[in-house]
Amino acid sequence: MNLKNYKSKNLVSPDLPIPYKVSYRAVKYPRLEFKTGELLIILPFGHRPEKILDKYKSWIVQKFDFIKTCMEETKNKELATRSEEELKKLVHVLTEEAAKELKVELNHIYFRKMRTKWASLSAAKNLTVNSLVKYLPEYLIRYVIFHELTHLIEKRHNDKFWEIISRRYKHYQEMEREMFIYWFLVVDKEKNGNGG
Ligand SMILES: [Zn+2]
Repeated sequence: MNLKNYKSKNLVSPDLPIPYKVSYRAVKYPRLEFKTGELLIILPFGHRPEKILDKYKSWIVQKFDFIKTCMEETKNKELATRSEEELKKLVHVLTEEAAKELKVELNHIYFRKMRTKWASLSAAKNLTVNSLVKYLPEYLIRYVIFHELTHLIEKRHNDKFWEIISRRYKHYQEMEREMFIYWFLVVDKEKNGNGG
C-alpha cells in the first residue's frame, strides 16, 4: 500500500458530510472499507471515486450511522488491564478450549500489533492474535478465538460459518458489535499514547 496516494478531507457529497480517503492500488475492482472507522475507497489506478460513492451511498450512510452509534457506546465500556504475559497465558487456555469444542487443530499462535483486525488465521493453520486484545474483557477474547478457529472449518463468513458460531454464540451479532465498540476504544487509547 502506498500511503502517498492518500488524499484526506474529501467528503462524500455536500449533503453527506462523511470524510473519506482514497488509496490507489493494483486491484481490478474498486471497493469500500470502514475497517478503522473511517471510509476508505480502494481504487484501481486511473479510476475516480465519484461513481462508487454514488452507487453505494445508502450503504455508506448505514455503515456510518452504525459507527456513530458504536462511538456513543464506547462511553459505557472500560478497557481491561492485563500484562502481555497474562494475555498469552489466557489466549493459550482459550484456544485449547475452542479447539477442543470445534474439534480442530492449530499449529502456532503468534502475537503482534495489528491495525485493522483483532486476529487472523493463515492457510498454514497459524493464529495471529492482535496483542491489543489484552484490553478486551475475557468473554470477548474467548469470542475472537472461537471465531478465528471456526475459520479452520469454514474460511468465509457465509451461512455455514455463522451456523457454527451460533451453536456456541446464539447472539453472535451482539458479540461482533461489541468487538466493534471496543475497537474504537482501543484505537483511541493507542492514539493517546498511553498504550503499551
Ligand atoms: Zn472471520
